[in-house]
Amino acid sequence: MRFSILAMGLSCAMGSVSAQAASHQDVQKAVEQQQQPLLQTLETLVNVDSGTGYSTGLSDVEALLTKHLKALGAEVETYPAKTYGGNTLVGRLQGDGDRNIMLMIHYDTVFNEGAAKQRPFHIEDGRAYGPGVGDAKGGVAVILHSLEALKSLDFDDYGQVTVVFNPDEEKGSPGSHDLIHKLSADQDAVLVFEPTFADEGVDAVTVVTKGINYAFLEVKGRASHAGGAPEKGRNAIMELSHQLLQLDELGDPDKKTTLNWTVVEGGTKRNIIPEHATAEGDMRYFDSGEYERVLNEAQKITEHQRVEGTEVEFRLEKGRPPLPANPESQMLAEQAQKIYQELGLNLQAVEIGGGTDAAYAYHADADGPAVLESLGLVGGRYHSDEEFVLTDSVVPRLYLTTRMIMELSHEASRD
Ligand SMILES: [Zn+2]
Repeated sequence: MRFSILAMGLSCAMGSVSAQAASHQDVQKAVEQQQQPLLQTLETLVNVDSGTGYSTGLSDVEALLTKHLKALGAEVETYPAKTYGGNTLVGRLQGDGDRNIMLMIHYDTVFNEGAAKQRPFHIEDGRAYGPGVGDAKGGVAVILHSLEALKSLDFDDYGQVTVVFNPDEEKGSPGSHDLIHKLSADQDAVLVFEPTFADEGVDAVTVVTKGINYAFLEVKGRASHAGGAPEKGRNAIMELSHQLLQLDELGDPDKKTTLNWTVVEGGTKRNIIPEHATAEGDMRYFDSGEYERVLNEAQKITEHQRVEGTEVEFRLEKGRPPLPANPESQMLAEQAQKIYQELGLNLQAVEIGGGTDAAYAYHADADGPAVLESLGLVGGRYHSDEEFVLTDSVVPRLYLTTRMIMELSHEASRD
């Protein structure tokens, strides 16, 4: 259910003149009291390995999350995720209002079994370190402890809060994206808790994410002895090289579409004309029409061959869709910016090149929820051994989510 822009504007104004002003301090106190408990939760979560597909670790984390959700008063359901395993957890809290809000993030990481033992959670100079500390166990902890803060404030003016924790985001969410899409259809707003970057010195939320497609180029030639009869061969590597140079300009700078060729393979032995060569490329885009355009252009371009007698095939597989620029995400970002201002802090609304599950929560039709991404902790070096989050970001981020839920619960009723 999508907010009408008018209703949203009115309710923002109402929010700022109603009882909210007096209670900002109460909220701040409540979230400050959650800072240490959040860091403890984060330590517990980070110290259990839960790389995508590592079923022992995933089920250990699942048990911790289930326990925490139930302690918050949530009904919890589990849905097995195909392909990589693990369960998606869906927790539901019933309130007294009529607005439905979904909070979602993944609990798998990119790190292998043993990483947590090697580099357990630790805090040094205002930075918390450990595998997945930002991406996205920090986001998991922000969700749980914002709900703790709301509970301590006796706040239940929402209709239903749905919490979704999925186990396979780092591999593209093959076993959870359908569920995310389905659950999000009934929401007024969906908040997603990927981390955000500390690099620029300004906190941010994300309103637009790029989509991802995977490009494949395959050339079949003919093998022959490179000394005895090279003329009888059809060199697949030469043809592949020619095609890659021709295909170098499939991107579109105006639309911010990129296609980078990142992997090549070909040939077997130095004295054999290679009969087979392949390449893989990474395509990122905002505009959903770009899939067709790139596919059509590439197919036309690859008709121009250099090595006669070779076969060339170009394929483009669809990955995560984009979260396109849309007014509802922009409205949520503006609401988040106002809330940050209550703390005297600035918040930017940015677009990012990475794809996230926020795209699966987005519905292109008029009934979809408003979606906002990157409400997790602030940090950097994600997916590396130096991954960190700023401990200073815990309180502002808890405050942001707690106040967002309060504001969204008090929106004027939907049309
Ligand atoms: Zn992530």
